[in-house]
Amino acid sequence: MHKIKAVFFDVDDTLYDSTFQAESARRNAIKAMIEAGLNLTEETAMRSLRRIVRRFGSNYLGHFNELLRESGYNGNPRIMAAGLIAYHNTKLTCLVPFRDTVPTLLSLRDRNYKLGIITNGLAVKQWEKLIRLGIQHFFDSVIISEEIGREKPDPRIFKLAIDSLKCKPSEAMMVGDRIDRDIVGAKKIGMLTVQILKGNQRDSIKNSEEEPDYIIPELRDILNILEK
Ligand SMILES: [Mg+2]
Repeated sequence: MHKIKAVFFDVDDTLYDSTFQAESARRNAIKAMIEAGLNLTEETAMRSLRRIVRRFGSNYLGHFNELLRESGYNGNPRIMAAGLIAYHNTKLTCLVPFRDTVPTLLSLRDRNYKLGIITNGLAVKQWEKLIRLGIQHFFDSVIISEEIGREKPDPRIFKLAIDSLKCKPSEAMMVGDRIDRDIVGAKKIGMLTVQILKGNQRDSIKNSEEEPDYIIPELRDILNILEK
């Protein structure tokens, strides 16, 4: 029997479908820009945009500027505005929890588990997600990399999270989609690790140090693990 007292979650692709959200928002932005006069095919524009996102990072604010500049549409405010509106509208529409996120969090609370978030990213942006997802009140502790100057998989971010809920590593579970960020660091300090199979599944497990204790297709499956 696991003696788990606290369950920590990653946010993106763990509590909601951020890969689908980002992909849909980009695609709808491209469609709107084409409708507004951008003379590229949808697939060509998507490829360029993906490349730009990889090059500048996902928190960069000028992806569409760069796309228009590269395509010879520098300073076309009509196309830019059309893209931005479609992008932001789609992002908001797709910012909904997985179907079993809220029921799972409710069950965990009913069973008196402490709940926490450990997430990489900008603090305001990550809080905005939790608040828009309507799940911000579930968590006793929210640790965001920007605020503490450490990113997953640095074991110190996991240690800090555990200390914030006053439990031992062996009493804490970490649930996340990424082996490299969520599993490796948590495992290092002795947390029970659970990989949820959402998002792009880019990771392959290279050795036993990267092996999660459990792999689950859906978030609600953690309830079964906790009963073991
Ligand atoms: Mg994630």
